[in-house]
Amino acid sequence: MKNQVQFQKGYSLIDFMDDYGDEEKCREALFKARWPDEYHCHECGASSYCTLKSRAIFQCNRCHHQQSLISGTIFESTKLPLTKWFLAIHLLTQAKTGISALSLKRQIGVSYNTAWSIKQKLMQVMKERDDGKSLSGIVQLDDVYWGGELRGGKRGRG
Ligand SMILES: [Zn+2]
Repeated sequence: MKNQVQFQKGYSLIDFMDDYGDEEKCREALFKARWPDEYHCHECGASSYCTLKSRAIFQCNRCHHQQSLISGTIFESTKLPLTKWFLAIHLLTQAKTGISALSLKRQIGVSYNTAWSIKQKLMQVMKERDDGKSLSGIVQLDDVYWGGELRGGKRGRG
C-alpha cells in the first residue's frame, strides 16, 4: 500500500485501475490520506474507534462521536462513489491541456452538471495547493473551506 497517493503524470490507466479500481481500494487510500499516522476523533482526539455497518463511518470508542470517511472533504458534496472521484482526479492530472466537463461527463458516467462541479472543485484544489495533486492535498484543502478542523482542535465553520 502506497503511503501517499500521487496522481503524477505517466501514471497509466491500467496502473490506476489496479490501485484504485474499486470502492474498497479508494476508501483505504482516502483513510490513509486523512489519517496518515493513525485515526483520531475530531471531537476528543482519541484514536480508538469502531467501524459501523457501512464501513465508511467510524465511531469513537471514548466519546462515541461519529464521523464519516468523506465528511469535510470535497467528496462529501456529492453522492458519487469514490471510484468516480478518483478517476476524475486521474483524468484531470493526466490531461496535458485540461479536460472539458463534457469529456469528463462521458468518461466517468455522470451528468454534465456533476461533471462540471467535480471539475471546478478539483481544479481549484490543484491550483491552490503545492501538493494539490496528491490525495492528501486534495483532502486537506477542504478542511479550510468546510471548516473541518481549526488549529486549536476545535470544530467550526467559516
Ligand atoms: Zn471521541
